[in-house]
Amino acid sequence: MRSLRIRIYGDDILRAESAEVEKFDGELGELIEKMVETMIVEDGVGLAAPQVGVSRRIAVVNPDPQNPDTLLTLVNPRIRSCSDETDCVEEGCLSVPGIRGRVERPIAIEVEYQDRHGGRHCVKVVGLVSRIMQHEVDHLDGVLFVDRLSFGRKTLVKGRLRDLARKGKRE
Ligand SMILES: [Zn+2]
Repeated sequence: MRSLRIRIYGDDILRAESAEVEKFDGELGELIEKMVETMIVEDGVGLAAPQVGVSRRIAVVNPDPQNPDTLLTLVNPRIRSCSDETDCVEEGCLSVPGIRGRVERPIAIEVEYQDRHGGRHCVKVVGLVSRIMQHEVDHLDGVLFVDRLSFGRKTLVKGRLRDLARKGKRE
């Protein structure tokens, strides 16, 4: 199976709000398989559909890439509640290569989502999984982690983002 091309910062699809998934068919299953494959090839811990050019509310998450049992597929995820307690941890993104930065997020969240067959689930997650899920749900709303950096850090990476955007638009 060929992996999908990752869209890079500057590509408009990364800024669009993705559409709800309504049909849970073979085509959805195939897209999810390809997303998982792409996440593994690119060595990521999460991937959202807009990052591979599909504006639909789908994300795959795998906090431990060495362990396929931790893989989770989220269709139409919605964050129901967040802890008041936050932490500030360094993040990166396959769509923003070469740039990392600390982002403050709630430590624990409750997420409602559907699986690839449409079954409904609700999980409480904490720590790394919670952080990855929040990062991926952001993608579905057109938000990137660089939007959430501190003012100082944003200023520092501004030039590099501009370069990325120029390259992303050309591709
Ligand atoms: Zn990302």
